[in-house]
Amino acid sequence: MSFELLKRAGGGGGGGHAPEDPSADIENVDVQHYLGWIWVAFVGVFTLYQLVFHLIRYIRTVVCLNNDTQRYFSTPHVLFANFRKHCLDAPLFKTRHHREFKLSSAINIGTLPSRLQTFMLVGYFGTNVGLAVWKVDFGKDYSVVAGEIRNRTGVMAVINMIPLFLLAGRNNPIIKLTQISFDTMNLIHRWFGRIVVLEALTHTFAWVAYKVHTVGWSAVQAAITNKKSDFIWTGLMGTVAFTFLLIQSPSAIRHAFYESFLIGHIIGAAIAVAGVWIHLNNRHQQQMVYGVVALWVMERSWRLLRILIRNVGKGGTKADVEVLPGDALRVTVRMARPWTFRPGQHAYLTIPSVGLHTNHPFSLAWSEEEEDLNITNMTADEKGLPMNRQDILEKRKTSMSFIVRRRTGFTEKLYKKADLSAAGRFTCNAFVEGPYGGEDLSSYGTVMLWAAGIGITHQVPHVRELVAGYANGTVATRRLTLVWIIQSPEHLEWIRTWMTHILSMPRRREILKILLFVTRPRSTKEIHSPSSSVQMFPGRPNIQALIDQEMQEGIGAACVSTCGTGALSDDLRKAIRQRETNWNVDFREESFSW
Ligand SMILES: Cc1cc2nc3c(=O)[nH]c(=O)nc-3n(C[C@H](O)[C@H](O)[C@H](O)COP(=O)(O)OP(=O)(O)OC[C@H]3O[C@@H](n4cnc5c(N)ncnc54)[C@H](O)[C@@H]3O)c2cc1C
Repeated sequence: MSFELLKRAGGGGGGGHAPEDPSADIENVDVQHYLGWIWVAFVGVFTLYQLVFHLIRYIRTVVCLNNDTQRYFSTPHVLFANFRKHCLDAPLFKTRHHREFKLSSAINIGTLPSRLQTFMLVGYFGTNVGLAVWKVDFGKDYSVVAGEIRNRTGVMAVINMIPLFLLAGRNNPIIKLTQISFDTMNLIHRWFGRIVVLEALTHTFAWVAYKVHTVGWSAVQAAITNKKSDFIWTGLMGTVAFTFLLIQSPSAIRHAFYESFLIGHIIGAAIAVAGVWIHLNNRHQQQMVYGVVALWVMERSWRLLRILIRNVGKGGTKADVEVLPGDALRVTVRMARPWTFRPGQHAYLTIPSVGLHTNHPFSLAWSEEEEDLNITNMTADEKGLPMNRQDILEKRKTSMSFIVRRRTGFTEKLYKKADLSAAGRFTCNAFVEGPYGGEDLSSYGTVMLWAAGIGITHQVPHVRELVAGYANGTVATRRLTLVWIIQSPEHLEWIRTWMTHILSMPRRREILKILLFVTRPRSTKEIHSPSSSVQMFPGRPNIQALIDQEMQEGIGAACVSTCGTGALSDDLRKAIRQRETNWNVDFREESFSW
């Protein structure tokens, strides 16, 4: 066997091995290709799916602009409806998907993946197990088998590091191509991580088994402590770092100590990559580690660049933080260079004076064009020349607002600072990174938006966009229902000014209905419906009844979107799936968590 081939295919792990079958090294190269093609196929299928549906939505919008019945679009294609009901929208078993398993109110130990997610993850896991032993002849000598397993799993662990690192980034291009949410990307990232750890451990144990079988335990110790070679101890360092990452990342730890988890995770990942990099010195597989590092550096640089572009210069980004009733804050940011606001976007907020470098995701709930106060009363520029319309538009600044619910970390500190400030508000420097996400619901004849508590921040921009689109004749939407479940009427204050604006928009009575459910009213006097299109009820909604009503009275294709608790998502999914074979309805969920 040529040494070059051995190096190319991952052989030679540890030196001094029994002769191995040269074809085993070629098979390892094949395994890398198979895994690579599986990812390409996965991304390709989902990208194609998105493209087709993008086209369908576009055509539907155009043909429905002047169509008030949209009957053709209200019934689903039988085959697709069944696929949606039993696979795409299905929970793993009966109902549960987003509702967390909790040991106590503070300890969250995770959620169950959906049926499609489970199918994909178990499929990929099974493929990895299959490929790890593919064409390994277990009838051969113990040391040969151990050597082959060692090389195979080593090669597989390294190649799986590429998607592992790619999917960890919030700017990963696969989100754009496939429209798979960052939340799901995180789930896949966690499973790839588990697979890499298992492969790294198998690689290490197969090496130990080989050494012990051929030379004895003393050889294991000698190889690890060998000062003349970095090969073994750096490999061991990589495996130990990967195992540490597995141990420190269960849901309970992630959710309870997010910042500590994140710092530990980044340091652990850097040590693992450094270990594997040196371990693979002069080996072909090192190129894959270059790829991993390049992906990481590109993602971080892109994030930094976006932060600099949006926030540096032109007076920087300022945030007005204001206390609201019901343990919440309104944070209004005026960015140095704002982006075009779209419903469904979120951004990461950093306020150094409160949370140092930490950044937290919040949904963009509202945007407003504000004229720069310094020029509001000016009609001439500094040189005394009259300002034209373009000059004035350029001087306008877009402000964007978040509603932030008080939790126990950064949001708690921010709340306390605002609460102690004069009039319950203060202004500070901030950095906003974004935008991420964005959704267009204009192709649906019927849109039903559900929110629980702070989840309303995700839905308010859709309401404004669709009511405006209806009045302008630029959307297919003819029926829009917002269902908001809150614990107390004081939560209405979070969006009162924005709702007042929406309720005064032209033709909003023709399209918008708002149902408010107050689960813990202090007295029945608090519950009163301002009008027939804005109704307030005590208690929880009957989800199935509301979904059925929407199905009967709805127009054309429908979309039900939810943002709030996991339990609400699960109950809605259940109610929708009961009707999915008779109703052309898309279900979209945002969980504010990963
Ligand atoms: C896409 C998205 C949009 C969101 N939009 C809103 C919104 O509009 N309004 C709102 O009030 N909340 C929103 N959240 C939730 C918000 O990000 C967290 O409540 C906030 O980061 C908690 O900060 P904390 O330090 O006070 O949290 P803690 O009290 O320490 O933890 C509370 C929870 O927040 C999670 N969390 C903490 N820090 C982060 C972080 N940096 N990134 C992600 N999760 C974190 C923890 O895992 C834990 O589950 C959104 C979350 C996501 C993922």
